[in-house]
Amino acid sequence: MKIPETGIAKDTLLETLETYRSNDLAWRNGRTWGYVYDGGPEVEEVAKRAYTMYLTENGLDPTAFPSLLRFENDIVAMAAAHLGGDEHTVGSFTSGGTESIILAVKTARDHAREARPEITEPEMVLPVTAHAAFHKAAHYLGVKVVPTPVDPTTYKADVAAMEAAITDRTILLVGSAASYAHGVVDPIRELGLVAQRHGLLLHVDGCIGGFLLPYLKRLGAPVPDFDLSVPGVTSISMDLHKYAYCPKGASVVLYRDPALRRHQIYACARWTGYSVVNPTVQSSKSGGPLAAAWAVLNFVGDDGFMEFARRIYDATNRLVAGIGAIDGLRVMGRPEMSLIGFTSDTVNVFHVIDEMKARGWYVQAQLGFGGSKENIHLTVGPSNVEWVDALLRDLAESVVAAKKIPPNGVAAAVTQALSGVDLSSLTGDGFVRMLGMAGVSGTKLPDRMAPVNEILNALPPELCERLLAEFLNQLFS
Ligand SMILES: *Cc1c(COP(=O)(O)O)cnc(C)c1O
Repeated sequence: MKIPETGIAKDTLLETLETYRSNDLAWRNGRTWGYVYDGGPEVEEVAKRAYTMYLTENGLDPTAFPSLLRFENDIVAMAAAHLGGDEHTVGSFTSGGTESIILAVKTARDHAREARPEITEPEMVLPVTAHAAFHKAAHYLGVKVVPTPVDPTTYKADVAAMEAAITDRTILLVGSAASYAHGVVDPIRELGLVAQRHGLLLHVDGCIGGFLLPYLKRLGAPVPDFDLSVPGVTSISMDLHKYAYCPKGASVVLYRDPALRRHQIYACARWTGYSVVNPTVQSSKSGGPLAAAWAVLNFVGDDGFMEFARRIYDATNRLVAGIGAIDGLRVMGRPEMSLIGFTSDTVNVFHVIDEMKARGWYVQAQLGFGGSKENIHLTVGPSNVEWVDALLRDLAESVVAAKKIPPNGVAAAVTQALSGVDLSSLTGDGFVRMLGMAGVSGTKLPDRMAPVNEILNALPPELCERLLAEFLNQLFS
């Protein structure tokens, strides 16, 4: 395809855009349990207006667009007040949880370069439940990940195991509030003590829980302490494009004080163009997500967020009870916010997911890893709340249907084919054949994903990663 020789009419294009989305996840109907955080039509309207109003303004230079500076300072102040900050707390608005985490890891790395220059191979200690974004940050920044096991029944970080993993190269500890997979809050207070005892930084990943948990606590839910008010916590991330219902491209990373945040900022005066000083990864950046986030926070307000939280919490509790009552299913750990992982010891959960899909639901597969067996994930948002009973009915039916599906042996076949193969010799073609065995041809995914999920689940993580990368390499071509 080439850029069209002459432009296409506006109406035609907008119609095309509308047609193209017909195969996307239909998230407006409340049957999608993940990816979208829908605050409803009024919030969407405000967000859209604010976003388009600031579409072209550039966050590259906050002195050229003081409105953007003001939005950011307001948002960071609201975040700090929400997360136990004080007059020393500073932070940045970023494009998402991953960027917030990358920046927190970069800050820790550069802080260590100055404070502990003898460390040439920095390490960060995290529980296996920590988000993949930490591994990505480590990969980008040359920091080594030291994973530690979690409690096998609560799925919370094992503080003793984390402390035991500290070496003279450790620069950062990580805890989640809450973890994405099981929705549980790590023992942040205890981790804070460990961090202080060893003179280490501690980042709390509040990407998904940071905004919601304080509301749940005010509703009387037993939420463990996790924020900047906990001694030893030195930074925290919180996504606004999750439970603050802002358009995507909105997160905040906060630091205990400006002396630490200084290590996040990048400046460059060694080229012939304009002087660069960037607090975040992006340089030129649209004012849209920032203006929209500012508008949504102010539009919904504390009472509005509280009402969302109340409905979500109630729905989550009903789901946890309902899932536990379905023969063959069990909830993993005790979910502390609005995220549920549940599994089965008698039925293949990947078939359950396919059966749910056939009944019009999107629920997410989570592969087995680090003592957490393969399971099904639900992220509960406001638009899902009225669908709890319907979901539970179809889930019970799906379990019965999944039990009747005979095992297909594809995972065993792939594992068999791989045994004795020198893995480093595997080529792109080998992976394409492996994908073919699971029914994936070219860029087309099969309707029933169980064989693909079974293969991914059976492969060791390095191979699973290679397979996923090869698939994406095909997909974008
Ligand atoms: C979503 C999430 C992230 C990553 O955020 P993105 O906005 O997807 O980059 C990190 N940690 C947790 C716990 C999350 O739920």
